[in-house]
Amino acid sequence: MAKKVIKRSWAEPFKIKVVEPIKMTTREHREKQIEIAGYNTFLLKSEDVYIDLLTDSGTNAMSDRQWAGMMVGDEAYAGSRNFYHLWDNVKKYYGMPYFVPTHQGRAAEHIISKILIKEGDFVPGNMYFTTTRLHQELAGATFVDVIIDEAHDPKSKHPFKGNIDLEKLKALIEKVGAKKIPYVSIAGPVNMAGGQPFSMQNLRDVYDLCSKHKIKLWFDATRATENAYFIKEREAGYEEKSIPEILKEICSYFEGIWVSAKKDLMVNIGGILATKNKKVFEKAQNMVVVYEGLHTYGGLAGRDMEAMAIGLEEMVEFDNIRARIGQVEYCGKELDKYGVPYVLPIGGHAIFLDAKRILSHLPQDAFPAQTLASEIYVDSGVRGMERGIVSAGRDPETGEHRYPKLELVRLTFPRRVYTQAHIDVAVESIATVYQNRKNITGLKMIYEPEYLRFFQGRFEKL
Ligand SMILES: *Cc1c(COP(=O)(O)O)cnc(C)c1O
Repeated sequence: MAKKVIKRSWAEPFKIKVVEPIKMTTREHREKQIEIAGYNTFLLKSEDVYIDLLTDSGTNAMSDRQWAGMMVGDEAYAGSRNFYHLWDNVKKYYGMPYFVPTHQGRAAEHIISKILIKEGDFVPGNMYFTTTRLHQELAGATFVDVIIDEAHDPKSKHPFKGNIDLEKLKALIEKVGAKKIPYVSIAGPVNMAGGQPFSMQNLRDVYDLCSKHKIKLWFDATRATENAYFIKEREAGYEEKSIPEILKEICSYFEGIWVSAKKDLMVNIGGILATKNKKVFEKAQNMVVVYEGLHTYGGLAGRDMEAMAIGLEEMVEFDNIRARIGQVEYCGKELDKYGVPYVLPIGGHAIFLDAKRILSHLPQDAFPAQTLASEIYVDSGVRGMERGIVSAGRDPETGEHRYPKLELVRLTFPRRVYTQAHIDVAVESIATVYQNRKNITGLKMIYEPEYLRFFQGRFEKL
């Protein structure tokens, strides 16, 4: 008789060696803390948070190899050996010959925007990312969203909602002319769309179209390995390819990349600017000295560069990515048991609760997602963040709020940090808030900073 085999779940490809205690607080304490924080979860003290799903940025647990790497930091001002180790791995995994380190992703965005953009240019992209778009705008460009319509529909189950709409891109090229488009800005998976990937086919099509017009592509490769994983899982012809092979092929269509190492590379700080273009590299090398530090450390310590170099090797391990995305999927399936609406398909790094549907009785200018994030915090000490009207900011022309179609609360999973039991507690709390949603009232903004207002804006209960 054939042996019966029960299908195995994924499990984390590591065990825990060091632990950091966390503590549960009282509801009364949290009510007070969120009021002090102006109903903005970014302004809470981490001490007052129980399970922190604010972001996966720099909140990762490093491996024992990475910690060991920290001990062999070469803290020379110039020419640190860790810089060369990191450079070798940038070439190996991203396939980019030229590299400049930066202290984090936005520093690379700042430098590349200044180099490539002229006043009056247009930068098309697959939806925006907050810091990316801001640096493009500060450099004088107008950002144009050319993502497919499905990306703006939280109910659409399109497997590649990060794809670019070729007709939208063509229309922009015809309208403003290729000379006014310094590059197309592509990210994947697209954070603001709910962690949604682009397909390799779409990337090839965009590349072909842009090549005809001599427009280059630049890649925000911050979460590129997750995009590679989704291509492997969902796109015909890639089932048998390895993550490093897929990542290399993705990068081959781009002139250059910028990376926030605080995500894929599983470190706490760091950024990368890498390119195939020697002239751009030379300019970047020169600018990094002005804004970051010498071109062989770019605002980082030698030990940080060593942890990044090792992180690059670990980030492409299939089991690591599968366990990470498996955890996010687990959270989504548990939420399904309570009928809580979130963006489909389940994203790579986060669950995006659909605050528009959950708090459908609130108008968008009563900040439903901001409200929902603070209600979840008060219920259990679980911290998520707003991705809706507050994050979208104001239109630089009219000064009015931008009213994005998506009004979401993001629950982001730090890599290698929380267990399935933590996810269970978070889900139970979200379900509790969901079941009591009709009693929730909105917020009004009482302080608004000029840039990236979601970080420091303050609110009051209506
Ligand atoms: C985090 C992030 C950035 C900015 O990087 P920082 O390291 O936070 O400065 C840019 N793009 C994407 C897609 C990101 O997730």
